[in-house]
Amino acid sequence: MRELVKKVTSKINELAKEFDELKIMHVCGSHEHTICKYGLRELLPENLLLIPGPGCPVCVTTQKEIDTAIYLSENYVITTLGDLYRVPGSEKSLFDVRAEGKDVRIVYSITDAVRMAKREKDKNFLFLAIGFETTAPTTGAELINLNIDNFFILNCHRRTPPVMEFLLEDSKIDAFICPGHVSAIIGVKPYYPLVEKYRVPMVIAGFEPMDILISIYMILKQLNENNIRVENEYDRVVKEEGNVVAQKIIEKVFTPSDKRWRGFPIIKGGGFELKEEFKKYDILEREEIPDIKEKIPKGCICDKILRGEKLPTDCKLFGKSCNPLNPVGSCMVSEEGTCRIFFKYYRGV
Ligand code: SF4
Repeated sequence: MRELVKKVTSKINELAKEFDELKIMHVCGSHEHTICKYGLRELLPENLLLIPGPGCPVCVTTQKEIDTAIYLSENYVITTLGDLYRVPGSEKSLFDVRAEGKDVRIVYSITDAVRMAKREKDKNFLFLAIGFETTAPTTGAELINLNIDNFFILNCHRRTPPVMEFLLEDSKIDAFICPGHVSAIIGVKPYYPLVEKYRVPMVIAGFEPMDILISIYMILKQLNENNIRVENEYDRVVKEEGNVVAQKIIEKVFTPSDKRWRGFPIIKGGGFELKEEFKKYDILEREEIPDIKEKIPKGCICDKILRGEKLPTDCKLFGKSCNPLNPVGSCMVSEEGTCRIFFKYYRGV
């Protein structure tokens, strides 16, 4: 393996000499884990920047979405995945409101939340449905089979290719390493129009260190040969057509909609809206939510990190007043968050 790594990194170094600077972005927390855990940035030439983008579903959930859940905790049992529990809203987190006595429960999946709602029919339940194309099918499958009237979702699902398009419009990204898990669901096809329009290499990559290195090599080769296209390095898992069953569930329950992501303005097509038939489960159709003003914590640069403009080490609070026990911004909360990952691997915790 050591020999193979040496061989691929030397090829990367050789090909990268042709360029002044190259910015390769990935949009997946698991890719960032592999990059940090195996020190892959340290193997790359200085002119090749490997940039983490908005690849953590918890991190891109907006403060307003957290505040909405906190507001609704007055009258609903809030059910959430563990990671979201610690994300700060404008004043406090769900962890804080639970400490104040509200009924906030951590669940492993929407299925657990539905099971609780079926058991406790005298209470109304709200599930915070977060995640990209990977988790939307699970939410959809549960809603298709739902036959109770005390269960609702706060729909925070988001679609990945539109945010990649936003970044291509907005920043000078030279290539994308496309997310392995998301691509397993959506397949290869959604990337073709992006490559066609923006002429940047896109390579779908797996999660082993060699997957990442080989995908970087594939990107450089495309650029050197001026043969820009979509390639699938992770074809042992990602199929051209993706997971058709999951796609059908998504199509039945959701329709693409414009949505704001934390750190971004409204992304065209960046969200999933429930179709008419399922709107009765949408909490925003049922409750009026007051307009709570977002308050970005002073010094936190999560917005710039999510857009790939800065790294956690550029933040003055990193590892000092902001750490996993006391997260100031969303990127320090989840295991998929860039600040949290940097803290783990560069602070030895
Ligand atoms: Fe925000 Fe903390 Fe990351 Fe700084 S280190 S950007 S305060 S989450």
